[in-house]
Amino acid sequence: MNLSAFPRVCLTRTPTPLEFLPNLTRHLGGPNLYIKRDDTVGVALGGNKSRKLEFLLGEALAQGATHIVTQGATQSNHVSQTIAAANRVGLPSTVLLEERVSNAHSDYYQNGNVLLDQILGATIETRPGGIDMNQELVSVGERLRAAGERPYLIPGGGSNAVGALGYVVSANEIVAQANAQQLRIDHVVHATGSTGTQAGLVVGMEGSNSHIPVLGISVRAAREQQEENVRKLARQTWELLRLRGDFPDAAVQVDADYVGGGYGIPTDGMLEAVQMLARLEGILLDPVYTGKAFAGLLDLIRQRRWKAGENIVFVHTGGVAGLFAYRSVLAPTPAFARKI
Ligand SMILES: *Cc1c(COP(=O)(O)O)cnc(C)c1O
Repeated sequence: MNLSAFPRVCLTRTPTPLEFLPNLTRHLGGPNLYIKRDDTVGVALGGNKSRKLEFLLGEALAQGATHIVTQGATQSNHVSQTIAAANRVGLPSTVLLEERVSNAHSDYYQNGNVLLDQILGATIETRPGGIDMNQELVSVGERLRAAGERPYLIPGGGSNAVGALGYVVSANEIVAQANAQQLRIDHVVHATGSTGTQAGLVVGMEGSNSHIPVLGISVRAAREQQEENVRKLARQTWELLRLRGDFPDAAVQVDADYVGGGYGIPTDGMLEAVQMLARLEGILLDPVYTGKAFAGLLDLIRQRRWKAGENIVFVHTGGVAGLFAYRSVLAPTPAFARKI
């Protein structure tokens, strides 16, 4: 697999740690739990988008782009990391925020990633929920081109074949760490949304003949839809890497039982997961992605999906800024009574 053939900028400090979770493993009495700390990777507050952006911005610079454009939900981690990454390579950015979650607390519209976006200093435009955001992206690109810019458009979540290469790298990293630690990994579990993370992980595991199974826990789409979306991108990524034969479709496995009321809508399982990992291991999950995925992992362990002695790796994809947007849910009773 020749990843060095693709233009890439350096935005990450890798490898990220692969750590054992001793207290949680003891508490649950099931399989051994490990965590891949991709929340510590990259620009701004870090997370999985930084890995994708190394290849996306590499391509942007190779094409002579003068302006970065992307889109995401109001509290998009992808958007804040894209602005930070564009700043690092010296390019201005325009971002479109979709109001995908309605009637949320004011923190949702003003704090968390929205605060970061403003500090980082992009041009921010908003759009109502439910419209075709990738079409909006194209329109903004045309507007910038008419003004003499050379815009580089990054799809939602940075999820195209170029972005997914960042997670092929992460899969290779996990395999190398497992070999070095003499750790037999039985399953990798992570949150899946715009599909680039899972597509890259699965292509990495299959393309290197490691065949470590990957389970994506959906935060938005139903199972069949999400599996089809991931497979489509995985096939494109497989082709981009010129891997031999056909991508093995069956390697894409999604569980969509933990979405709850919808994307970005809190669930009791998410609250339990965020508190449990914080209180037993001192690690912060996020309310939109990793909290729901970890809730799924906890539930599957309680259902005895894995035996004691098996080794499960949860990929922590970041998103910690989202905690500050969900204060009213995570801490409904403020610690100080003082009026602010
Ligand atoms: C975007 C994101 C994901 C999902 O990754 P995709 O590549 O979009 O499927 C998971 N966790 C966090 C924190 C994210 O921001």
